[in-house]
Amino acid sequence: MRRPNALLLFRMGAAILVVAMLVLSGTALIAAWRQSRVADDSLHRLRDFAVAFNAFTALAAERAPSEAALAGGGVSDPSYQRMLLARGRSDWAVERLRDAVGETFPFNFEFLLAKLASDRARIDLLIRQPPDKRILGEQLSVIRELIAVGETAEPAVARLARRVVRADPQIAGDVNLVRLLASLEQAAQRLPSEVLPTLAKREVLRPDLLAAAQRTQQRILALWDLGSTQLVLDRGEEVMNRQLNLIRGEYFGRGFPYLTRLIERQALRPNATLSADDVRAVYEPTIGPVTTLRDLFLRKMVDDATEHQSHAFWIMAATLALSALVVATLVGLTAFAYRQVFRPLLTFRAQILAIRERDPTRFEPYTGDVPQLVDLSRALETLRRRDNERELLERERMALSERLACLASTDELTGLLNRRGFYEALSARLAGADRAFVLVDIDHFKQVNDRHGHAAGDHVLRSVGRVLREAAGPDQVAARYGGEEFALVLTGDAARDVLARMETLRAAFEALSVSIPGQAAALRLTASFGVALALDSGDTWDELARSADQALYEAKRAGRNRVRATNRILARNTRAVADHGQPGTALAVEQHA
Ligand code: GH3
Ligand code: MG
Ligand code: MG
Repeated sequence: MRRPNALLLFRMGAAILVVAMLVLSGTALIAAWRQSRVADDSLHRLRDFAVAFNAFTALAAERAPSEAALAGGGVSDPSYQRMLLARGRSDWAVERLRDAVGETFPFNFEFLLAKLASDRARIDLLIRQPPDKRILGEQLSVIRELIAVGETAEPAVARLARRVVRADPQIAGDVNLVRLLASLEQAAQRLPSEVLPTLAKREVLRPDLLAAAQRTQQRILALWDLGSTQLVLDRGEEVMNRQLNLIRGEYFGRGFPYLTRLIERQALRPNATLSADDVRAVYEPTIGPVTTLRDLFLRKMVDDATEHQSHAFWIMAATLALSALVVATLVGLTAFAYRQVFRPLLTFRAQILAIRERDPTRFEPYTGDVPQLVDLSRALETLRRRDNERELLERERMALSERLACLASTDELTGLLNRRGFYEALSARLAGADRAFVLVDIDHFKQVNDRHGHAAGDHVLRSVGRVLREAAGPDQVAARYGGEEFALVLTGDAARDVLARMETLRAAFEALSVSIPGQAAALRLTASFGVALALDSGDTWDELARSADQALYEAKRAGRNRVRATNRILARNTRAVADHGQPGTALAVEQHA
């Protein structure tokens, strides 16, 4: 199995990591965003609910000052001013409710406002009459109508409450508790309405009004029964508990029993001493803790939702920031690892190959700043330098050994091949029929040395060498065979034409005059030639050399300054003759007269 490409694996791994991180971050981000949206939505719905709820309670709160004004001394009475203030508050709350409901669901605000206006007009009409002319039935009826107007806002509150619960089912219990507290508050506020007009008239409470009051009392008790258990169970908070105890002590300990006793007495005989204001002054403040707890509760819900929303937002922001950080770090690290480690490693690889192939043009230095790679780069640089030095040494050594080889195969005096170089050159030449081996020996050379000195002899040898080199040209082989004896090997056309060529060379030596430095007369010389021809491709160089030597011997014997050839076929025949006692003079061919 092929080993996987590490760089490819790295790239793929990095890509997978980045994509996985993006998916993971995206998922976390979407979850956080959704949570934030839910919290946002939930908070908006809760705020709308709070607005509707406040409108609802503001409308209900208009009733008490209206009753006070109906019992008061007319438009100049301070109770009338208090009623107008309450109307302003409920108008403002209804306007806000209209904004909160908006397009969410159809709600007949026109009807509510028209009904409110007509009830208020009836109340104003009654207040403008002198107190003793105001009819009780009329007062009770108009107050009930006013309460009914407030209740028309109830469906809007209920719908907005449902929307809150739909957005966040967990706060259903809290919403119901708020609504329960509001119902308790309204029932508590409504209770004196059944009694106080009769009290103000100094009359006995009518049985139907008594029954209505008792129903309200029962409702209050039932609501409290339900609410207090729920509140005690659910809330452990200090402020809430204090309000809960205040409701218990103030309202159910004082206000409620006080009004209960008053209703019971009123049912038996008219009260001659108490005024409606006196009763209100005692009773109404005891409802305060209910209102406070309801407000606390509502505010707490909104605060919790706001906090939740802000949490959700920060979680989303943190998720976003963290995801961005993680992805950016990952991408950065990958890019860093690639740029700082992988790419340089590839470069180093290329450099090592360049060193191996001795290709300095491909060498480029490392420019990164990873310490280990800087070290590696330096090591490579050292390696490259050492390799350069070694290469230089190697070249010198090769040049030297080439020179040595040349020296070993060259004759120092003449510059021709020596005998060793000569046989090396011959071994490289193919065997074949067209080959000629010639030995050339200077005649009476000893005399040159004897008469003119060894240096003059050397001079002559150099001149002969020069002539022979020229005669051989680049295609043939010429060598100093030993002493004053030279060898020539001709192949191809030159071999076939060897006798004529050697005759020319012999004549050239004869014509040669060698001037010796320091000597007036130039030296003249002659040479003898022994030529052997290869007749078939099986003849070895050694055999040819022996034949050439024999021919040279013949040339010397015949008087020197001549060319003698030995025909190998004749030579074989001659050897047969020689065996019979006639050494081969017969095979000489006289070429020179
Ligand atoms: P022949 O015609 O029979 O060849 O007579 P020769 O004198 O040429 O032959 P011989 O073999 O008697 O003498 C060769 C001489 O060549 C002997 C030697 O001193 C001389 N010689 C050999 N090598 C050198 C050399 O390198 N320089 C000089 N100056 N003389 C050399
Ligand atoms: Mg000689
Ligand atoms: Mg000789």
